[in-house]
Amino acid sequence: MATRLCRNCRAPLEEDQEICPACHTHNPIPKPWYVPIVGGAIVALIVYLLVDFGDVARVLGIE
Ligand SMILES: [Zn+2]
Repeated sequence: MATRLCRNCRAPLEEDQEICPACHTHNPIPKPWYVPIVGGAIVALIVYLLVDFGDVARVLGIE
């Protein structure tokens, strides 16, 4: 079901179709509001898993 329209010629586009089939205008797919939040959470999780907090505490002189 086409739910978006080409911003140039108003031709119907599929949800995941970025290039208009009629005029070849690039129509960026709008990202949901939570994409940057989920992305940030994933990056934070990776950093958390990669960083050895024992070493960090030793460097800071906490231990
Ligand atoms: Zn178009």
